[in-house]
Amino acid sequence: MATQTSYLLRDPSKDFTSIDVAVAAGDYSRLRKWMKPDKKEQIIAEVKAGVLRGRGGAGFPAGVKWGFVPKDTDKPKYLVINADEGEPGTFKDRWWLEKDPHPLIEGCILASYALDIHTVYIYLRGEFNYPLEVTDKAIADAYAKGYLGKNILGTGYDLDIHTHLGAGAYICGEETALLESLEGRPGQPRLKPPFPAVVGLFGCPTLINNVETIVNVPLILEHGGENFLSWGTERNGGTKVFCVSGHVKKPGLYEFPLGALTLRELIYDHCGGILDDRELKGVVPGGASCPVVLPDELDVPLDFDALKSVGSMLGTAGVIVIAEPTCIVRALLRFSEFYAHETCGQCTPCREGCSWLVRILKAIEDGRGMPEHLEMLLDICGQMEGNTICAHGDAAAWPVQGVMKKFYDEVKAHVDLGRCPYDDVDGHAGSEWEKRGDAWLEAGR
Ligand code: SF4
Repeated sequence: MATQTSYLLRDPSKDFTSIDVAVAAGDYSRLRKWMKPDKKEQIIAEVKAGVLRGRGGAGFPAGVKWGFVPKDTDKPKYLVINADEGEPGTFKDRWWLEKDPHPLIEGCILASYALDIHTVYIYLRGEFNYPLEVTDKAIADAYAKGYLGKNILGTGYDLDIHTHLGAGAYICGEETALLESLEGRPGQPRLKPPFPAVVGLFGCPTLINNVETIVNVPLILEHGGENFLSWGTERNGGTKVFCVSGHVKKPGLYEFPLGALTLRELIYDHCGGILDDRELKGVVPGGASCPVVLPDELDVPLDFDALKSVGSMLGTAGVIVIAEPTCIVRALLRFSEFYAHETCGQCTPCREGCSWLVRILKAIEDGRGMPEHLEMLLDICGQMEGNTICAHGDAAAWPVQGVMKKFYDEVKAHVDLGRCPYDDVDGHAGSEWEKRGDAWLEAGR
């Protein structure tokens, strides 16, 4: 059983929003050592050596992404921090923005220095009013201490950080939609290529990194890339923060070295097991878009590669635990409604596919399902996957494909019975009682 580590999730009893507390704990201490012209290449090399995989969901190596930003250009370059955390089941970035913002600011300074960037934008999810307040205060404190602004610590280097609150669209977490939004337009993803590293914000080279990714940068420079890599596995450097929610006794944030523990150990040894000791039905390991994992597949290590062996992904590490008695069709319908609500509508397969998935799943759950609906669900997913401008179409299709692969019998039982088989099970998610609650919520909107 892996021991919980705390490089990233620092002592919650301390007020790390205070810059004095943060500085006393070592924040900003890396600046004097690394902000030297001959260290720029080494910063990038250390991040590459640490095999820091992007923490926003895709797991692309951050050092490689940094390498795509052109060195010689007449245009200004930008660093954009993606703090538009909106994937259902994911609540990790909020931790730093609300409780411990200085590692993010220090990481922004180090990354920007290495890449000759002088302007950073932190794009926060529209609902993050309080995190914005805390982050703005931390930025102001960093300016006051001379860590931001002109001639930082006498190095001759200037850097400004600006925050920007989104308007509440999930799709703005997609990096090119985020750029559109930041430029003042509707948040609709751009066709790639060109990639933002070359043509990004205002048409200029732009590095876009997730909050947790950048928070790791000071750690890498403190401990060395190779050392950081050794905490995890060969292709998964460092630790990872897991967000555990759903039917589990101790939901919350947990930090472990990547690959050091299995999904079963996380849920049963660290999170106290299943709520009310109910029977486990499945686990969504990486946010709503990741296909469900079955109870007999839980011995899979938690890193960006291993979860592929059970047909899923680590994604954002938003671990959603689903226990019996939960109707899997109803749970899936919830996810699908989310993706249908959040599609930007540019691509036909995504716009139409998302809404058709909802209509069919609703018909099946309500007892109006027809045998041909089963094949139709997979057919629609096949037309969405890989056929859209951004990954939203994929993200909407994957959970449906996962349920159809692993819970086909339960979905078919809805059609065969002409009703939800859980309708007469006490306390299930989807009971008449809960449906009345939904109707009440709908009426109150
Ligand atoms: Fe918009 Fe969906 Fe197309 Fe992405 S896949 S650009 S969200 S319509």
